[in-house]
Amino acid sequence: MKKKSEILAIKGGKPVWNGIWPKWPEITEKEISKVIEVMKSERWAISGPSLGKISWEKKFSIAFAKYCGVNYCVPTCNGTSALLIALEALNIGYGDEVVVPILTWVATATAVTNINAIPVFVDVDPKTLCVSPEAINSVITPNTKAIIPVHLYSGMANMDKLSKISSQYEIPIIEDCSHVHGALWNESPAGSFGKIGTFSMQQTKVLTAGEGGAAVTDEKSLANYMEQLRADGRIYKKKTNILGEMDIVKIGDFQGNNYCLTEYQAALLYEKLKTLDLQHEKRRKNAKILDRMLLEIDGIKPLSTYSSVKKRVYYHYVFKINSKKIENKSIEVICGLLTSELGILIEPIYKPLHQNIIYNPLSKKRFHINKGHIKKLKTQGLNFPNAEKAYNSFISLPHKALLGNYEHLQAIADAIIKVLENISNL
Ligand SMILES: *Cc1c(COP(=O)(O)O)cnc(C)c1O
Repeated sequence: MKKKSEILAIKGGKPVWNGIWPKWPEITEKEISKVIEVMKSERWAISGPSLGKISWEKKFSIAFAKYCGVNYCVPTCNGTSALLIALEALNIGYGDEVVVPILTWVATATAVTNINAIPVFVDVDPKTLCVSPEAINSVITPNTKAIIPVHLYSGMANMDKLSKISSQYEIPIIEDCSHVHGALWNESPAGSFGKIGTFSMQQTKVLTAGEGGAAVTDEKSLANYMEQLRADGRIYKKKTNILGEMDIVKIGDFQGNNYCLTEYQAALLYEKLKTLDLQHEKRRKNAKILDRMLLEIDGIKPLSTYSSVKKRVYYHYVFKINSKKIENKSIEVICGLLTSELGILIEPIYKPLHQNIIYNPLSKKRFHINKGHIKKLKTQGLNFPNAEKAYNSFISLPHKALLGNYEHLQAIADAIIKVLENISNL
């Protein structure tokens, strides 16, 4: 235990940790050389002529579908566009309602507004921070056209209960798996439960090419639809890989957009997928050690998840802090203190969307369709007590903290102890 006399780093004291942290994103020489190989070739995108061999985008799509235990994967330029094509492939549009947890990154909801549908927000389970299945039951109407559970931080939404709701009401699920590439619910990978699963490969995510995304599905017709939606109405033709010819051909059953991943991003993702499970393993092992360290601190509790999560994937490591322990200080202040002790960005969890300034659909003229639509998009006056309370009591560490060694984990625990012991001298 640290002594009370220690001075907080923010007040000029010695920080608990001033060494280095593991790098994120990581990059190996092999990955760099793959990217350079693509850059030196004459094919940077699937919308360019074939070099006479399989595109990196196709190679990645086959590998990632396999990784997710599904038949098809449609890569996209980011996770938001993966959500967009998923929603549109399920034929969702103007006026339809889509159930979204109030606690998520803004993109889960903005994707819904972008197709002129209405996000219907529901509260979360206070223990796991994932969508509360019970809360979903009470918002379903004849207009509900999809449910988007988000597997948050290092957990998964309750897929047993959600699958039941989905079949009971015949409403499809789109799993937002942006945080949990490769997590398992019993034997089934994240993304394989819903009609469609979506992923983000943005820079902070556990699998990344800086930007990137994917939508996965078992159904050929949905894959075909999504392929067109992400490449301006074009899909891979039957006989591809012919030198100088286009791999993708115009079909136009469905008007699309250009949401394509570049070839160098796809090559990077293909390479990175090979080491993903090893990194997961390391983070999982370190998370267990950190769990034990934090459970010894009075008032601290690591985020729990359902026992059916057989392989846990750590995007952010999240823990709860008893509000009595931080007296009247805000969670932002506590995160700031921890950041200055550790030299790594420590943040509160997502601000619930109804209180989040970057969720602001009415700022967009294109959503001002009519009074009824505007009214349904408004979130003022809504209450989500579990998410609101959670925001003020949970703290999140980026997953690179779990790629370090024992000393890094010890420093995290020591910093929490130091901050809690000095909270009243602030
Ligand atoms: C990152 C993220 C997205 C969106 O991904 P982008 O690649 O940034 O478009 C969607 N949902 C969740 C939960 C995310 O964390």
